[in-house]
Amino acid sequence: MKLKDRVAVITGSARGIGRATAEAMAREGAIVVVSDRDAALAGTTASEIGGRAIAIAADVSDAAQIERLFETAVARLGRVDILVNNAGIGSTELVVDISLETWERILRINLTGAFLCSQQFARLAIKRGGGGKIVNIVSLSGQKGGVGRSAYGASKAGLEVLNKIMAVEFADHGINVNAIAPGPIATETGKGMHTRETVEAYHRLIPQRRYGEPEEIAVAAVFLASDDAAYITGHTLNVDGGFLAAGLMFP
Ligand code: NAD
Repeated sequence: MKLKDRVAVITGSARGIGRATAEAMAREGAIVVVSDRDAALAGTTASEIGGRAIAIAADVSDAAQIERLFETAVARLGRVDILVNNAGIGSTELVVDISLETWERILRINLTGAFLCSQQFARLAIKRGGGGKIVNIVSLSGQKGGVGRSAYGASKAGLEVLNKIMAVEFADHGINVNAIAPGPIATETGKGMHTRETVEAYHRLIPQRRYGEPEEIAVAAVFLASDDAAYITGHTLNVDGGFLAAGLMFP
């Protein structure tokens, strides 16, 4: 019960890594807000998690919806102690091909969405006297070069730097800010970004020779959101089967 009675807002948690994180946090005693742009699936996920989980739909590309998400969470649950900036979309377009519209949509969701949620969270935390945890889901794509990572890699690299900036700015308010950089994980987004050839290549290139599971990211998020990680801030934890350590480029 490492997160007993903490209120956790997890964006993009109707499925995938976000859902696994919501489940893991609920198992540790947290009251989880399953937030997603897919309102129906968020509702189903919250009821399947059960306990005190609730669903609050929000599209993180819309600042007004983010404000409403936090207002509703506070109105229904009293406070928000943990924010997991997980909502994100992938892209595989080359720099020469990607349209401005796609570029801006990816940055808007993956980077600006996380910034706006963190801003709302921090303002609330500061108002009630400080304290709290932010976990940002970044990506190896923001750390390595590689073909077809254009907007996605740039958005995640931006979020990883913002992670450090927020850790420093929020330290006086007792808010820890950390990131998790997953390697390839078998989710809808993960699968959508990989062809059959790249999947085979990943199995060769990742030292542990396999994709990660959403639950393997979720346990890292629980740790970073818990008091066990009180002296860790501004850090990025790679959960990638050794892929970054191997130093190889994306297939
Ligand atoms: P997923 O597609 O299974 O789940 C993403 C969820 O986010 C979906 O429920 C979707 O509806 C929601 N979402 C998308 N856009 C949204 C928006 N604008 N507002 C609110 N919700 C939105 O993907 P996943 O693999 O679980 O990805 C979760 C996070 O992990 C993403 O930030 C992704 O970039 C990151 N990540 C994934 C991998 C991987 O290989 N799967 C690797 C590194 C990082």
